[in-house]
Amino acid sequence: MKSQKKYFIKTFGCQMNVYDSWRIAAMLDARGMVASKDVADADVIILNTCSVREKATNKVFSELGRIRDAKKSGALFGIVGCVARETGAKAFHRIPDLNFVLGPQSYHRLPQILENPDAKLLNIDLGGLEKFDEMPQIVHAPVVSYIPIQEGCNHCCTYCIVPYTRGPELSRSFNDVIRDTLHAAKTGAIEICFLGQNVNGYKYTDENGKIYRLSDLIRETAKMPEIQRIRFTSSYPTEMTDDLIQMFKTEHKLLPFLNMPIQSGSPDVLKRMNRPYSLDAYIKIINKLRDARPDIQISSDFIVGFPGETDNDFEQTLKIAEQIKYINSYSFKYSPRPHTAAALMPNQIPENIKRERLAVLDSALNEIQRKFNEKCIGKTLPCLCEGADKTGHHLIYRTPYMQQCIVACPKDTACPTMANIKITAANRASLRGEYVKN
Ligand code: SF4
Repeated sequence: MKSQKKYFIKTFGCQMNVYDSWRIAAMLDARGMVASKDVADADVIILNTCSVREKATNKVFSELGRIRDAKKSGALFGIVGCVARETGAKAFHRIPDLNFVLGPQSYHRLPQILENPDAKLLNIDLGGLEKFDEMPQIVHAPVVSYIPIQEGCNHCCTYCIVPYTRGPELSRSFNDVIRDTLHAAKTGAIEICFLGQNVNGYKYTDENGKIYRLSDLIRETAKMPEIQRIRFTSSYPTEMTDDLIQMFKTEHKLLPFLNMPIQSGSPDVLKRMNRPYSLDAYIKIINKLRDARPDIQISSDFIVGFPGETDNDFEQTLKIAEQIKYINSYSFKYSPRPHTAAALMPNQIPENIKRERLAVLDSALNEIQRKFNEKCIGKTLPCLCEGADKTGHHLIYRTPYMQQCIVACPKDTACPTMANIKITAANRASLRGEYVKN
């Protein structure tokens, strides 16, 4: 009997890549292949890559070197995603026996290399979202299902490679998104997370000229009885329109948690980053959100050590973090990326200063998170189960604010997927809780 061919996928980077990897896996499953956790055993090896930070790109090429040495003879290996788009044909020079290099909008071309394994496959074109139509659906949706609604970005922040790797903004049709969301709801999803590089910039005009925004997608999804939680990421501050803000008031399935990156608290740095909002305008949006949903919590991304950032600029970042009281935030050292304006700016900040500032900011953000987590003790929160921990004795739940909450498995009953959990203890990283009898 002919043995089934196996594939191995490793994913780097954002949720968009995680989702794309699911669709690639669904495509290979539909061709009769099975997933493998072992590179040495796989017939097709795919790295789905991220190039947002320099380190991430270097990591991909060291990983490719390791795979080349570990893979079995005849196995095909290649890269897809943003590093593929960034490096293009140069990837074949760095790793000559690489078989394929496919950009983020060309994953659906992968079967070409399976049918013609002796050729090299390179496609890093931009300009279309056909991949969503051409690739098979995920058969059983995960409990938390990611649904991409737009790709690319028109904002052109001077540090960001995304407009180069993912191209200009493209929004999927309203009907296609709702079709995918319904499929996810019918096959296991309880939480939907709409995805996009500039998710709240979603704008689709149908053939009759009717315009659909993210608020329309949320309203329609909230009608699906299987779906109990809705969220979206990642948002750009000035795209936070009033119709969307009102959703936090009227649609209670929309979680009271929003990632809205500010990146820096310094107006000068924001200007050089080409993020054209004032701190006042940003705070006004937060206030509107809090008026609509008083329990809403905000998270942010921060970049420290942007070219020309002074001690005073950095102090302003610390100040805004404390003022907004961001929870669950991400902070990074600035790293110059090719094809970006900031990489050519004067006054690049030395690595040791970036490192010091990052440590100071991380410690401030951790302290805000710890205080928020401690304030949750005694509260009962509706939480969604994401699976068991390594011991198998505890379940990991996610609160509406995306905190991790650990609960002992019930002895005699099945573990509920959604449960009201009373928070009994907290530290910076997670909460502990117990089930509340309904
Ligand atoms: S808004 Fe986000 S994705 Fe778009 S250019 Fe700026 S950082 Fe990059």
